[in-house]
Amino acid sequence: MSEKPVLLIVDDDPINLQILANCLNENYLLKVAINGSQAIALAEKEPLPDLILLDIGLPDMNGYEVFEQLNNNDTDEAIPVIFVTGKDQQQDEVKGLKLGAVDYITKPICPTIVLARVKTHITIKQQQDKLLSLAIHDQLTGVYNRHFLMETVIKKIAFSIRHKIELSLIMMDIDHFKQVNDNYGHPKGDYVLKTVAKLLIELCREEDIITRFGGEEFIILLDQTNQQAAHEKAELIRKTLEKLNPDNIKITCSFGVTQLNNDKETIEDLIKQADLALYQAKESGRNQVAVFSQTGLY
Ligand code: GH3
Ligand code: MG
Ligand code: MG
Repeated sequence: MSEKPVLLIVDDDPINLQILANCLNENYLLKVAINGSQAIALAEKEPLPDLILLDIGLPDMNGYEVFEQLNNNDTDEAIPVIFVTGKDQQQDEVKGLKLGAVDYITKPICPTIVLARVKTHITIKQQQDKLLSLAIHDQLTGVYNRHFLMETVIKKIAFSIRHKIELSLIMMDIDHFKQVNDNYGHPKGDYVLKTVAKLLIELCREEDIITRFGGEEFIILLDQTNQQAAHEKAELIRKTLEKLNPDNIKITCSFGVTQLNNDKETIEDLIKQADLALYQAKESGRNQVAVFSQTGLY
């Protein structure tokens, strides 16, 4: 991630671009587009912009159309847009703001005003990003929280069904974790939870959704993964955790694995299946992986 906030400046007039670049260059990482299609392409490319300065009169499509296209796209939804334009008619300003732009700047550009407005909206964006991050992550371990899992999984299930992609879910629970707290104290228990989460991040792919589902219970949602591969992943995690010994505390985990099997299944079904398998793993002596299948547990 770049240190400076990222701005996408969209303007077809080289002189305006130069003025904007000159006043913003020092504090921001600038990406520049000279037409609408370039703007849309750059808005989707890393590093993603934190704010877009969008001219309305562009050669291929107008700024309003660019704005609407950006908002149709999931990833761009959160990027705030300031319209920058020579059209100083009040109705143009109203139109831009009604569409959902956060602000409106008219040409000729006054660098001090541009800088001040950009700074304000970047600050708001950063605060929103921080709040969003707090809302979807578990504070202790830094992995996603239950709320995020439930929101995301609905989309993932729909996508997997539509594209006939396999989707698996691993539920894991630390064995006899209460004893860790009882024997070593709650702060040490917290440390163990953090270490376990860190290991999960190391062993999983970027696209896997690692969630702290409850106290010492984690769920991993594995995209494009069948039950067999999920079973192998759970087995790898189990073996690695067994040898982890954080602060010389021996820990083990039990696992329940399941796969999306038909297009009627919901997240509640998947969780229930994984929970059944997890219960089986606990009952059979803990520190093991059990798999749910339509024909029974194994
Ligand atoms: P089992 O093998 O059946 O899962 O036994 P267990 O002791 O792990 O299960 P139980 O549900 O009886 O206890 C879970 C414990 O997890 C109790 C609770 O104090 C602890 N716990 C839950 N959340 C946290 C937390 O955030 N920090 C710490 N340190 N402990 C926690
Ligand atoms: Mg437990
Ligand atoms: Mg538990």
